[in-house]
Amino acid sequence: MPITPPIKGADIDGVYTLRSMADAKLIKAASHDQRVVIIGTGFIGMETASALAQAGTTASITVIGQGSRVMSNIVSETVSNALIKLHEEKGINFVFDATVSEITKIERQVDKDGDSNNQAFSNVGGVTLANGEHIDADIVVLGTGVSPRTEILHEVNDPDGVQVDAHLQLRDGIYALGDIAKPTNQMGRMRIEHWRVALQHGMVTAAAILNDDNVDSLEARIPFFWTMQYGKSLRYSGHAPTPDHNILFGTPDTLDYIEYYFDDEGADTRASAASTLGRDKELVAFSELLRRGHAPTRAQLNAGFDMVDQAHALSR
Ligand SMILES: Cc1cc2nc3c(=O)[nH]c(=O)nc-3n(C[C@H](O)[C@H](O)[C@H](O)COP(=O)(O)OP(=O)(O)OC[C@H]3O[C@@H](n4cnc5c(N)ncnc54)[C@H](O)[C@@H]3O)c2cc1C
Repeated sequence: MPITPPIKGADIDGVYTLRSMADAKLIKAASHDQRVVIIGTGFIGMETASALAQAGTTASITVIGQGSRVMSNIVSETVSNALIKLHEEKGINFVFDATVSEITKIERQVDKDGDSNNQAFSNVGGVTLANGEHIDADIVVLGTGVSPRTEILHEVNDPDGVQVDAHLQLRDGIYALGDIAKPTNQMGRMRIEHWRVALQHGMVTAAAILNDDNVDSLEARIPFFWTMQYGKSLRYSGHAPTPDHNILFGTPDTLDYIEYYFDDEGADTRASAASTLGRDKELVAFSELLRRGHAPTRAQLNAGFDMVDQAHALSR
């Protein structure tokens, strides 16, 4: 479920979180002709900004981030800067290095359609930042993270996901899949909130229930996700603790790049993840090499490692 941070005013009418299609429709309807503030520069914040900008019906869109990057735990600073530029070209305003301390309230007795029961009714007046600055807004969208609702499985106390086995099984007859699950894949035990991973979980669990050996186990799979912004699909494969040990090829500014991520700066360290815009063939080849334990090292990549050729060679 979406996390609502402990900000004063986070519960007033006109403050939204986004999880379901119904939430998305409500936000779209409520933002018509309105000044929208989005808090958070992760996926949800950036995809919301992109979707609202593409709808073209808001008065303004301002994204507020605590750091100076977008998707900062996923892509390098250079790629982040390219994404910021892409959003700015579509009219998004950014306020970085800013913490929202309060969502301010104004009394609007009746909305502009004369209906105070309208679900899109808002009492938001704006947001106040920790430095005292105030930004006027009519609605606020919180893109401030999600957390698994593990309390519905009483016996599981790990707040960061249900610790299931390789078949996504918690105990006899009970499985936990998708965003709530923290199983072990080829790259270790982790909880991942992405669609393709949830799909993999479904296939693995169904195979386990049916005793079908023809489906790859989770341990033979690597995580993958995409995020679509302005019709451009940024794709990511693998898992890296930080995007800051990286090698970048191409030009993020022209939305044509691939970058590889490592656990450290060592020349012999193998890449553990990659992200791309526009170089999907290379990403698919990398994913296959990674899955089969043949991801290139930093030194190999610097020496001109041909990802596609190497993946072909491995599958011959
Ligand atoms: C706005 C948004 C954008 C996203 N964009 C991307 C993207 O671009 N790429 C990507 O890879 N991933 C994306 N994701 C993540 C992706 O949607 C999730 O990882 C995926 O949906 C997880 O699947 P799931 O089945 O675990 O959970 P969900 O899809 O959330 O399904 C959970 C279901 O359980 C139901 N449920 C919950 N509690 C109960 C209960 N007590 N009783 C009965 N039913 C219950 C819910 O109603 C829901 O239908 C996005 C998510 C959001 C919110």
